[in-house]
Amino acid sequence: MGETPHVLVVGGGATGTGIARDLAMRGLDVTLAERGPLASGATGRMHGLLHSGARYAVADPESARACIAENDVLRSIADHCIDDTGGLFVQHPDDPPEYLDRKREACRECSIPVEELSGREAREREPNLSKDVSRALAVPDGAVDPYRLTVANATSAQRHGADILPGTPVTNLETDDDGIASATLRSNDATSTVDVEYVVNAAGAWAPDIAALAGIDVSTRPTKGALVLTDVESATVVNRCRPKAEGDILVPHGTRAVLGATDVPVEDPDEFPTNDDEIELLFEELEPVVPALENAQAIETFWGVRPLFDPAKDGAVAGDITRGFTVLDHERRDDCPGMSTVVGGKFTTHRQMAEAVSDHVCASFGLDRECETASTPLPGGGGTPELASFPVEPPIPEWS
Ligand SMILES: Cc1cc2nc3c(=O)[nH]c(=O)nc-3n(C[C@H](O)[C@H](O)[C@H](O)COP(=O)(O)OP(=O)(O)OC[C@H]3O[C@@H](n4cnc5c(N)ncnc54)[C@H](O)[C@@H]3O)c2cc1C
Repeated sequence: MGETPHVLVVGGGATGTGIARDLAMRGLDVTLAERGPLASGATGRMHGLLHSGARYAVADPESARACIAENDVLRSIADHCIDDTGGLFVQHPDDPPEYLDRKREACRECSIPVEELSGREAREREPNLSKDVSRALAVPDGAVDPYRLTVANATSAQRHGADILPGTPVTNLETDDDGIASATLRSNDATSTVDVEYVVNAAGAWAPDIAALAGIDVSTRPTKGALVLTDVESATVVNRCRPKAEGDILVPHGTRAVLGATDVPVEDPDEFPTNDDEIELLFEELEPVVPALENAQAIETFWGVRPLFDPAKDGAVAGDITRGFTVLDHERRDDCPGMSTVVGGKFTTHRQMAEAVSDHVCASFGLDRECETASTPLPGGGGTPELASFPVEPPIPEWS
């Protein structure tokens, strides 16, 4: 090994670019390989909701606390990627009224700022709300531009010396007696082999395929989520206030809004059936609280795939599991030094995931390097041209 370990990060979503940024800032030699454009996986196919954590406060307080902590951090380092719309959890007559009271208390226990509003006060903030909405909770949800934030991570990583390679699938990983030895990357139909000291598998729903290249078994249970971009203009994020269900969320993006999502198991994250019923369901579930959706246009429909992961079923060991996400240490778990896989989590908590993975990678090299990503602003605050190096193909409209 040279003096500076060479780390290959596989996957150019929020998680992979966040890890590349963190490791490059800590002085490691980083290459990130992404098979398509940056953010072409789940990162570019989600609501774009900057969670306050209120959605998880009742059922998963640990994730809720992580969300509110990272919500604060992202506002301080990536203000230019966030629209501070605020969010409302609204009480509709079809939903259990006591649930709003539970959510309010759970938010307080998780230190999520929460304010109860009457129906009239809620409609003053979000005029699209139905007259049937009798009360609401206001929380610090927001809208986030996932492309801008992912490209900002990549640009920061590049400025700290990382090689960021979109359009470059990883096609093979070679191991020797010491663990990971090299990786094969394909670009423009040419392949190259690079020596690596460490591989971080941040390939989301495709993480099992990357693990398999090194002969390692990682099993996820992917589920697809349907989303639709509509021409409804909304002031705030609107959440139905009920136990987590499909079609609960509306997120404003400029003059448009994304509705989501469904949650249906799929076999293969690249090949799965999509049908109009899923989109109709989103309108049906959200129209009672936002009647303007009745006459809205569906501008674009798209699907994201969640890499749901069950640590118990996968045989992950206790130290592998961290707050809503899992870092699998393949040295300990599979006797393959120099590789780990990160699965689960949220876009909102991607920076925290990246910090945990980077701590782990540095520890495996005996390096004591501080994480600085929570206090160092991301590039792009001076305007989009700063982020022009990495074109993306967004279904959610890019902000001007
Ligand atoms: C429907 C839906 C809605 C969601 N809404 C929200 C939300 O509103 N707010 C929120 O915080 N979170 C949300 N999430 C969760 C969030 O989208 C994910 O947690 C996050 O984007 C995952 O990022 P990632 O980088 O881990 O994975 P991905 O973005 O999927 O990145 C993995 C990357 O690996 C690449 N890859 C695959 N194979 C290879 C290979 N062989 N070589 C190189 N690269 C490869 C893929 O192309 C992909 O870009 C939602 C998820 C879904 C599915």
